[in-house]
Amino acid sequence: MFEITTEAPVLVTGATGFVAGWIVKALLEAGVTVHATVRDPTDTGRLEPLDKIAQAAPGAIRYFRADLLENGTFEEAMAGCRIVFHTASPFTSRISDPQRDLVDPALLGTRNVLSAVERSDSVQRLVLTSSVVAMYGDAADLAALPGQVLTEAAWNTTSSVAHQAYSYSKTVAEKEAWAMHGAQSRWSLVVINPALVLGPSVAGVSTSESHNLIRQIADGTLKTGAPPITLGVVDVRDVATAHLRAAFDAAAEGRHIVSAESRTFLDLARMLRLEFGERWPFPKSEAPKWLVWLAGPMIDKSITRRFVARNLGYPWKADNSKSKQALGLQYSPISKAVVDMFRQMVDTGSLRAPG
Ligand code: NAP
Repeated sequence: MFEITTEAPVLVTGATGFVAGWIVKALLEAGVTVHATVRDPTDTGRLEPLDKIAQAAPGAIRYFRADLLENGTFEEAMAGCRIVFHTASPFTSRISDPQRDLVDPALLGTRNVLSAVERSDSVQRLVLTSSVVAMYGDAADLAALPGQVLTEAAWNTTSSVAHQAYSYSKTVAEKEAWAMHGAQSRWSLVVINPALVLGPSVAGVSTSESHNLIRQIADGTLKTGAPPITLGVVDVRDVATAHLRAAFDAAAEGRHIVSAESRTFLDLARMLRLEFGERWPFPKSEAPKWLVWLAGPMIDKSITRRFVARNLGYPWKADNSKSKQALGLQYSPISKAVVDMFRQMVDTGSLRAPG
């Protein structure tokens, strides 16, 4: 059974993040005291949206400074907590050094948070935000899976620091979490593996790569043709629900693919055009794979020929039945998430129609 109820405080790492915001909101509205770690608790502008929710809700929020790369910084925030949500991990393409900017914070951060869990005598459950990219590296990898469908049994074996560094960062971090969990029997680990998360953010603005992707669909970058990529997509509010069920349902265990639908960039553009019309330069067609292979690396260094060869033009299918059965998830249509997200980005001024 699932009910958000606990007398003990609950720790959320990276509390001002896109995914974390909705987890914190639900906890506060259920009357829970949230211990929220952020890198900079003096940045009151970033804390304001959560403060406003806390003021109107029965729960309370306390902020703690913690950095994934600083050993021991999570211990104060973890004191007395029975549940820990570890969501903090960089999800951005704006990096110069993939080891330093993605892999180290993901892996060393997980080690750091879980070491604090090991030292704590109160924590009973850790919910880790992993990703479907810890299960596969490139879309081409799915062809080797039984039925060509991604399941919780799969692990990403093809990513590295040099190729798909973000996917690699999530893979090594989740593996580390399972290894540390396996060495003890006092606390349980439940992992949420979301596909691409879309939807509005609690804070109104966001640094998540999810928002950059929608920006690229809207700002004319893909006007001459969207890359033919199919991805799993899911509403951020469903991702938060999955985390909460993973935390508060005693029977929850293992990994969970959290993905509502398989969609192409062009599908997302069509959903947006239907709602927001022709004044936005949404792509109307897909660019041929050979053209992206040829021109992509010249336009953007992160679009390598290997990435294009192994990710464009492939189907993407995942089995989300465990999330429905074990976590009771009922997925919302992704068109609503995309439209709500886009509308918020326009309303907050983070997206402007050209011209
Ligand atoms: P986000 O809004 O950018 O959140 C990332 C969070 O990580 C931020 O709160 C950030 O803190 C924190 N962080 C980054 N580096 C840190 C460091 N060195 N020390 C402490 N905190 C640090 O992105 P998001 O989309 O919500 O991502 C949250 C989690 O979901 C990540 O684990 C991500 O891998 C996972 N995920 C996301 C998606 C998606 O499509 N968005 C899909 C699957 C999984 P600051 O606020 O201080 O920067």
